[in-house]
Amino acid sequence: MTVNITINGQKIQAQPEQTILEAAREHGINIPTLCYHKDLSPTGNCRICMVDVKGARFLQAACATQVWEGMEIETHGEKSIVSRKMTLEMMLANHPVDCLTCEANGDCELQDLAYEYRVEVPEWGTKGTHYPVDSDPNPFIFVDFNKCILCRRCVQACAEIQVRDVWGVAQRGFDETIVAGADTTMLEARCESCGQCVAYCPTGALTSKISRGLGRAPQVTKVTTTCTYCGVGCQLDLNVKDGKVIGVTSNPDAPVNGMALCVKGRYGWDFIHHPDRLTKPLVRQYLLSDQPKPKGKLGEWVEVDWDTALDITARKLSHARDTFGPDSVGILTSAKCLNEENYLMNKFARQVVGTNNIDHCARL
Ligand code: SF4
Ligand code: SF4
Repeated sequence: MTVNITINGQKIQAQPEQTILEAAREHGINIPTLCYHKDLSPTGNCRICMVDVKGARFLQAACATQVWEGMEIETHGEKSIVSRKMTLEMMLANHPVDCLTCEANGDCELQDLAYEYRVEVPEWGTKGTHYPVDSDPNPFIFVDFNKCILCRRCVQACAEIQVRDVWGVAQRGFDETIVAGADTTMLEARCESCGQCVAYCPTGALTSKISRGLGRAPQVTKVTTTCTYCGVGCQLDLNVKDGKVIGVTSNPDAPVNGMALCVKGRYGWDFIHHPDRLTKPLVRQYLLSDQPKPKGKLGEWVEVDWDTALDITARKLSHARDTFGPDSVGILTSAKCLNEENYLMNKFARQVVGTNNIDHCARL
């Protein structure tokens, strides 16, 4: 059974359990939001999605109001626009004016709406910094609650997606603020640094500490790929600038994981360009000649091509197996390999080498 409603004069058939916002978006009608995110329960906190419903005494929050038969809605009537502008003005009045250097510049929903509705920081705004910048020692997450608009998306993302309940709301009125645990640090409040709260923050209040200063949204190209750390196979976007990975962000269309990533997938990318990373095979110098293994120091590492490295490995493995038996060899595979590669290593251990000594780093 469907419900007949009218939005901006357009007749629409909606599902009875849908909200005004869901019905509108399904039919390509834009209603602006800040606290709403389709992955999280609607709270109606920010009041940006207020719309005019015929017969209602007040504007209604589109994200939290269910449709009913015969409902007539105006999404961009004069009252809604005035209300949105006033709400935005109040948010901006408590917001630092530092878009020039803000990490979230170009990827900020508040900035987008202020631009769309032509709202500026009012004269009477405090323009000040109320909270310490970088207020939490979390190694991956930069916290600046001067930029928080109290939408509570971080609270919900942590509670509903990561189920850690790190963030909460303290105080009321002008003093209302987001706190970790009982106003402690994120890590003390059981944070596991997954960065879900960062991914859902619509402003620059929560950003990636390790990507800071490396490049902002308009400067990066997003390359969608699959995380190599474990078999879940989460999809993510590598943020690439000048040929270098400078961060990882969620890909909202990821089929396996949606916006969710764990700490490894979201923040474990710095090895890619790390100077210590091995990118070519290295072998000990003595292995390139027929010299016996030296006593004491094993000698210098020498860069070789893959054929040389693989020949040496095969020769040494065969020697160990033939001299000391197959069980003298043990094979350790990696979560960073594909399932198929791990399957092949299993076959290699049991059928080529002849040992059951094979294990996987995920069990260690
Ligand atoms: S990083 Fe993850 S666990 Fe920590 S507060 Fe954010 S959502 Fe919660
Ligand atoms: S993001 Fe985490 S859970 Fe997802 S594939 Fe990578 S390591 Fe596994």
